[in-house]
Amino acid sequence: MLSREELRRAARDCGGVDRRLFLAVAAGLAALPKRDRAARADTTAAPPRGDDPFLLGVASGDPSAGSVVLWTRLAPRPLEPGGGMPPAPVEVVWEIAEDEQFARIAARGHALATPQLGHSVHVVAAGLAPDRWYFYRFRAGDAESPVGRTRTLPRRGDATQRFRFAFASCQHYEAGHYTAYAHMAQQDLDLVVHLGDYIYEGPGQPGKIRQHVGGELRTLDDYRARHAQYRLDPLLQGMHGLCPWAVTWDDHELDNNYAAATSEEQGVDPVDFLIRRANAYQAYYEAMPLRPRSLPQGPDMRLYRRFSIGRLAELCVLDTRQYRSDQPNDDRKSPLNQACWDPRASLLGRAQRGWLQRTLTTSPATWNVLAQQVMMGVVDRKSGPPEEFSMDQWSGYLHERRALLDFLATRRVANPVVLTGDIHSNWVNDLRSDDRKFDAPAIATEFVGTSISSGGNAAPVPPEVEKLLAENPQVRFHTQQRGYVACELTPGEWRSDYVAVEEVARPGGKVATAATFVVEAGRPGAERA
Ligand code: FE
Ligand code: CA
Repeated sequence: MLSREELRRAARDCGGVDRRLFLAVAAGLAALPKRDRAARADTTAAPPRGDDPFLLGVASGDPSAGSVVLWTRLAPRPLEPGGGMPPAPVEVVWEIAEDEQFARIAARGHALATPQLGHSVHVVAAGLAPDRWYFYRFRAGDAESPVGRTRTLPRRGDATQRFRFAFASCQHYEAGHYTAYAHMAQQDLDLVVHLGDYIYEGPGQPGKIRQHVGGELRTLDDYRARHAQYRLDPLLQGMHGLCPWAVTWDDHELDNNYAAATSEEQGVDPVDFLIRRANAYQAYYEAMPLRPRSLPQGPDMRLYRRFSIGRLAELCVLDTRQYRSDQPNDDRKSPLNQACWDPRASLLGRAQRGWLQRTLTTSPATWNVLAQQVMMGVVDRKSGPPEEFSMDQWSGYLHERRALLDFLATRRVANPVVLTGDIHSNWVNDLRSDDRKFDAPAIATEFVGTSISSGGNAAPVPPEVEKLLAENPQVRFHTQQRGYVACELTPGEWRSDYVAVEEVARPGGKVATAATFVVEAGRPGAERA
C-alpha cells in the first residue's frame, strides 16, 4: 500500500481526475487494513517446501532493443488470498541465456518477490543484443520455473525486413476455451499485443462452459485470484512463455464500460470506484510483464507507451479508459448528435494525446501503429433509419477523433494503422476525417480483431450484415467469429490474417484463416488478398 505522500504525489500528477476527489481516495486507501504490514525487506522467507510456487508460469514483455521484462508470480495456491505464500519477501534468482540449455548466460541476478505486490517479479533484463531470441528461467528455494522464450526488438531506425505479431482481446473465461492461443503458438511470432478484456470482472455463473471462482471483483485479493484463474489456463500461460507480450487493458479489467472515475452503474460514489480501480490496476500490474515504471500509484497507472521496431514500425499502445470523459447520451446507442461533438470530450486525455502527437511526429517508421481498445470507424449499427452509433467508441468522441485523423493527414504520418478489440467481431475499416463522407480519401486503416472466447461459438451470419455493409461502405470486412489477427510487416506491405476458431464451447475447435487483408505502403486503405 502506498504512503500518504505517494498518494499525494499521485493526486498532483493525475490529469483526468479532480484533485479533491483524488485526495478523498487517498484517505480511503490509507484507511484500508494493511495485511502485509508485518513483512519487512530484511527478513526473507522461502516458498513453502514441496509446493510448486511457479503454477502461474513465466512471461516476458515490453521489449526494447536492449532489454525485456521477465515476469513470474510465486503462488503455490493461486486462487487463495496470499497465493499460499508466507507474508514475507522471498528471494528469486533469474537468468537469461542465448541458448535453451543455458550454456551461454547473457545476464543473471536476484529479485525480491514481496507480499505487497502479490509475490510478483518484474525483472528488467538489460544489456541484451538487439533483435534476437533468448531463454529465461527463475528459481525460488528449491523450485525451478519453466523456461520461457523471449526476444529483443531491432534497434530504432535499423532496416528491419520483417516482423510478425498477433493481436488479441476479450477472453471471457466462462464463454469458451482458448483454442485461439493453441493455434497462435504454432505461428512464428515476434510479439503478442493484447488489447484488453484480459479478464472479466463478473461473478461466477453456473451453467457456463467454465466458471469464474468468486463473486463480482472488488478487493485486491478478488482481482488477484481472477487473474490467477485465467493464467492457470495452459493455452494462455503457454503463449505467454513463447514470446514477449505488449499488453493494454480495456474496461473489464476493472468494470464494464467505465470512464475514468465513473462507473457504468448509477449512484456509485467515485471515491469508492477509484478505490476499486486501485485494486484492479494493482492486480493487473502484478499479473502482467510490465516495466516497473508502470507500477500504479493508488488509482493511477501509466500504461500508454511506445515500442520501436527498427525503422519498420512504431507501435503506440494506448489507454482509452483511464483518462476518458464520461460517455455521451448516457452511453446508449444514439445518432451522431451534438453530444457526440462536444469539444471537451476525450478518450485519450490531454497528456496522452500530447504524447501521441509527439511520438507520431518524431517517428522514423514506415508503419505507425495505434494499438488501442474501441472502434475508430464510425459505423451505423442499425440497418435502415434511424442511424445508431456506439457511444462507448470513438463515435461518441467525434471532435477528438476528427482532430486525430486530421493530424495524421496534415502531419503526413506514414502509413497509420489502427488496431482495435472490444466488440467481439472482426472488421476492416477505411478511416477518414469524416467517416460518413465515403468519397473522401482514406487516411488510415483500422483492423478490428474479434474475441478469443467472449461471445462463445460463432453465430451464423445474420441477414442484416449485408445491409449493414451496404449502409457503411467504409467497412471492407465484417464477421462474428472467435479468433485473433496475425500481422506480418515488411517495408512494402502490411498483411493481416484473420484467424477464425470455429468452436470454443469444446476444446480443440477447428481453426482457419477467414480472410487476409493487405495494405501497401504509401497507399492508405486495405485490399482483400
Ligand atoms: Fe470484451
Ligand atoms: Ca470491452
